[in-house]
Amino acid sequence: MRLSQFPLSTTKETPADAQVVSHQLMLRAGYIRQLGSGLYSWLPIGLRTLTKIAAIVREEMNRAGALEMLMPSVQPAELWQESGRWDQMGAEMLRFRDRHQNDFCLGPTHEEVICHHFRQDFRSYRQLPVNFYQIQTKFRDERRPRFGVMRSREFLMKDAYSFHMTAEDLNREYQNMRDAYVRIFTRLGAEFRPVKADSGNIGGALSEEFHILAGSGEDLLAVAQGGTYAANVEAAETKPSGAARATAAQSLEKVSTPGQKTCEQVSKFLNVPLTGKVKLLVVKGEDGGLVGIALRGDHQLNEIKAAKHPLVASPLTMADPADVLKVFGCEVGYLGPVGCPIPVIADFAAAEIADFVCGANDNDHHLRGVNWGRDCAEPATADLRMIAEGDPSPDGIGTIKFYRGIEGGHIFQLGTKYTKAMSVSVLDAAGQAVTPEMGCYGIGVTRLAAAVIEQSHDERGIIWPDAIAPFRVIICPIGSDKSAAVKDAAEGLHADLLAAGIDVVLDDRGNRPGSMFADAELIGVPHRIVIGDKGLATQQFEYKHRRADKAEMIAATTAAVLEK
Ligand code: ATP
Ligand code: MG
Ligand code: MG
Ligand code: MG
Repeated sequence: MRLSQFPLSTTKETPADAQVVSHQLMLRAGYIRQLGSGLYSWLPIGLRTLTKIAAIVREEMNRAGALEMLMPSVQPAELWQESGRWDQMGAEMLRFRDRHQNDFCLGPTHEEVICHHFRQDFRSYRQLPVNFYQIQTKFRDERRPRFGVMRSREFLMKDAYSFHMTAEDLNREYQNMRDAYVRIFTRLGAEFRPVKADSGNIGGALSEEFHILAGSGEDLLAVAQGGTYAANVEAAETKPSGAARATAAQSLEKVSTPGQKTCEQVSKFLNVPLTGKVKLLVVKGEDGGLVGIALRGDHQLNEIKAAKHPLVASPLTMADPADVLKVFGCEVGYLGPVGCPIPVIADFAAAEIADFVCGANDNDHHLRGVNWGRDCAEPATADLRMIAEGDPSPDGIGTIKFYRGIEGGHIFQLGTKYTKAMSVSVLDAAGQAVTPEMGCYGIGVTRLAAAVIEQSHDERGIIWPDAIAPFRVIICPIGSDKSAAVKDAAEGLHADLLAAGIDVVLDDRGNRPGSMFADAELIGVPHRIVIGDKGLATQQFEYKHRRADKAEMIAATTAAVLEK
């Protein structure tokens, strides 16, 4: 490939409306362009990376024995009415009518559609197990599309659906998919972690998410140090040590004093300097126990994370503290005596929030002292005890560390939730009708491109892992308009690398070195070869890895380049 024939649309300016670095860099490097809210086009260079991610996903799904198919994004309402989700899905599902007044939606997911196809074609236990997947466009009318393709409305997802005669067989395939996901995320070159997850409105029993660790991640993960336990805090089950319980009781005392709290009192209680125009919300459970505290203000991450804790409120997108209260069946009110399910909302005027400490408990489960720092890069630690699944010990499993993560994939054991609702059945060996067990397995293909950038970049641009770089090698000839030797060497190396099957690009635009290098670094090409008269005089090329501080000289041969 030649940059003279592959126009780059790079810019130096950081777009003002892009909050996270991946969004900024994808715009600056000309990977994506916005069409509307949550709608993005992928320019040729971006599509090269997206296609490589999809190819890795496809290869590993095929290796795991799943079968690729393709389903429409337009789905008839009847299927969703059958499963009961037409009414449950809410505004995230975009609905419309055709010219015959039939209802449709743009598919946010495909459980209903695959169940429909399965029941048409599968009759016998002999045809099971089976696992279908597709890499296809989803539409979700997200309340707050943001961070570019990380939370867009239209995006590419790999979704897979498996059918089984028994729960054991479902479990086996779930592990098989889990292994495939580990291979996929490893091949992407990203630091990731599988964690226990809340299965949300997809339903079902067992579920895990695969998170790319990054400071800008919207999710908070609780990970046992030195142990195997790891969970999205949405799904984390926690329990206090005796000491923590006593402190919780004290905290409860403090916030349970009737009457409005002053800003100073709240500040003291939270042990933080409270500033800015802040709304404080204290939620108490039915039994009078302190359920949680949430702040709302201009400080998005603090407020959202606080509000996202399951014991405080689950949806990330709640617009108003009143919504938070609905989750607990509470009413908005003022602080009352212990035993009263009364939350409080008060306005506080102050200047800056440095930190926010949240405490929460629900029956026997308790999480407190969790510090969601404003600077999210540094995971917070907490005086926490966590109960491993099935572990009855009140001492839990030790210290928990928190990380921020970007949900890149999600696997579920759905059981018979959809197959039952959609009247799916197959005959077993004895001729009895059986409702198949079902699993589903998603990966956000477009989101992964952005997530990898969040983890891998510097002030000069993107740093791609080799596997998903749009180009693995860039050749930058210096002064090739004047030097035939430079031009020949660059052309020769370009041809050789192409022949060796390497994704190489030759910067033959005749730009000055500074601008060539700036583009190469911005678009994130991992390997750079500079060819100039000076190096050629001693039969040398200059080589630099995108992560390296300094360039090095290597022999001016294709073999020496291939070694890198
Ligand atoms: P989130 O919690 O971020 O809203 P989700 O749990 O709703 O995601 P799933 O239903 O589990 O998403 O879908 C599978 C995968 O699709 C997710 O793990 C994620 O990588 C991706 N995905 C979901 N929503 C979006 C979106 N709005 N934009 C881009 N990718 C998305
Ligand atoms: Mg979602
Ligand atoms: Mg999620
Ligand atoms: Mg999910």
